[in-house]
Amino acid sequence: MCGVVGIYSEREDLTPHLLYYSLYALQHRGQESAGIAVWRKGIKLHRGMGLVHEVFNRNVLNEFRGNAGIGHVRYSTTGSSTFENSQPMLVRSREGEIAIAHNGNLVNSFELRKEMEMDGRVFHSESDTEVIAQLLGKYLLHFDVLESFRRVTRELVGSFSITMLLNDMLIAYRDPYGIKPLCIGELDSGYIIASESAAIDTVGGKFLRDVMPGELIAIRNGEIESHILFKNSYRANCVFEYIYFARPDSIIDGRYVYDVRLKIGKRLAREHPADADIVSPVPDSGITFAIGYSHESGIDFAESLIKNRYVGRTFIMPAQELRENSVRLKLNAVRSNVAGRKIILVDDSIVRGTTSRRIVDMLRKAGAKEVHMRIGSPPIIAPCYFGIDMATREELIAAFKSIEGVRFMINADTLGYLSLEGLIESVGLKENELCLACLTDLYPVSIPGEKCVQHQSSLVEF
Ligand code: AMP
Repeated sequence: MCGVVGIYSEREDLTPHLLYYSLYALQHRGQESAGIAVWRKGIKLHRGMGLVHEVFNRNVLNEFRGNAGIGHVRYSTTGSSTFENSQPMLVRSREGEIAIAHNGNLVNSFELRKEMEMDGRVFHSESDTEVIAQLLGKYLLHFDVLESFRRVTRELVGSFSITMLLNDMLIAYRDPYGIKPLCIGELDSGYIIASESAAIDTVGGKFLRDVMPGELIAIRNGEIESHILFKNSYRANCVFEYIYFARPDSIIDGRYVYDVRLKIGKRLAREHPADADIVSPVPDSGITFAIGYSHESGIDFAESLIKNRYVGRTFIMPAQELRENSVRLKLNAVRSNVAGRKIILVDDSIVRGTTSRRIVDMLRKAGAKEVHMRIGSPPIIAPCYFGIDMATREELIAAFKSIEGVRFMINADTLGYLSLEGLIESVGLKENELCLACLTDLYPVSIPGEKCVQHQSSLVEF
């Protein structure tokens, strides 16, 4: 869980500001730290813990100038939440300077790091992102950029959408499975690469297309090149981007996230109807699903919970005790809509079940007659190794419980999850184009101790 951005602009003075605004648009992808790196006769870096507007101010941004830059917002999956692990990460090699911003998670970073440390390389952070940069630095000593990336890719197991400065060259690269999103847009003064198209819109750019799985884009002196380094007969776009993670106003791999969520809501109404007075979302994650549910069922849409806009995502607080207290801080019931009513409550997913239980209890306390929980995804039964923070298998409420068991735990009158088929059809991509591991327990790449999807073919190198 992170957001990355890369900017090439003919206007040296604009680059840092474009990075800042596009990171602002990606703030939902990570709130722990933020940073930018810009090239001008050398790489200059500023990063810090906190939200984008806490890390930067006008004075800081005005100190930066340069045509090429990258930026990052972080939510940690590998490595703790510390300054050393914040990004962009800077690695100096004999071939020059590398600044890297990474969205994704490597499964084998520990092994790779150990091997490199045995060869005498010194690491400055715990992060898997530094492993990628150091590995690249190693290959650049002997090979050109494209061949170095090919070699790095062969060694990495996991997900990576990357923006990078290699001296004055801006590079964007997406892993051959396309697990994490990455797209490219055009600016009046150059180009933008970003995790989500909403960032392109925010800086007034024109969305061009998604970066292809296995594609490397290099921009230098205003010239843009695309190289397909790997081709794969199947992809593994993260389905959770559509369910929860991405902004609804983003286009990801050719699908408008808002439309996907609306379709899911409609489908949910057909799969799990209920006799109720109102349909309500869990704000904000359930809103679009609930609108779809209401359209399809003809049951009135009404808010039964109000969210305090100034409280961040509950999962962002690393400790369980804090997470539990924060539900009341974040949400409050609308008594006039709730009292005496039968409510269909719609949310995108149930992970641990903690929030859902508290929300249902909140509605009951406010006088709800019945609470029918409807979920816009199938049960989450397996952990994510690719960068969505979803807890361990033991913490996933649906991993060891039946649907009736989950319903009992969250104290709802009825509980309905979207079917896997319903989800795939609503997204509109094929089953072999999606990573569904958290829902099926089958992973798109081979991970020790886990089952792998049996797809026909594998990677082809170019
Ligand atoms: P819980 O009932 O405690 O499992 O919490 C479910 C809520 O957490 C739902 O409202 C989801 O929108 C939200 N959620 C799901 N996945 C994540 C995630 N990876 N990070 C933060 N929040 C999430």
